[in-house]
Amino acid sequence: MTTVKCPTCQKEVVWSKTALYRPFCSERCRTIDLGAWADGSYAIPSNEPPEDEEDEEQHPKTDPEE
Ligand SMILES: [Zn+2]
Repeated sequence: MTTVKCPTCQKEVVWSKTALYRPFCSERCRTIDLGAWADGSYAIPSNEPPEDEEDEEQHPKTDPEE
């Protein structure tokens, strides 16, 4: 049996066809999470430089400190 953790409340959710709101445990948690996204509460960390006029090849980060 596969279980996942509800992203909102960390409760374990059984990943099955009957889990309508997976990976959330309930509609409520799903709504909360979507609301958080709309809110901007979840800031996606962006290390991208603001310049994207030049479409250079991607450099995989190989920083040994991370
Ligand atoms: Zn939940």
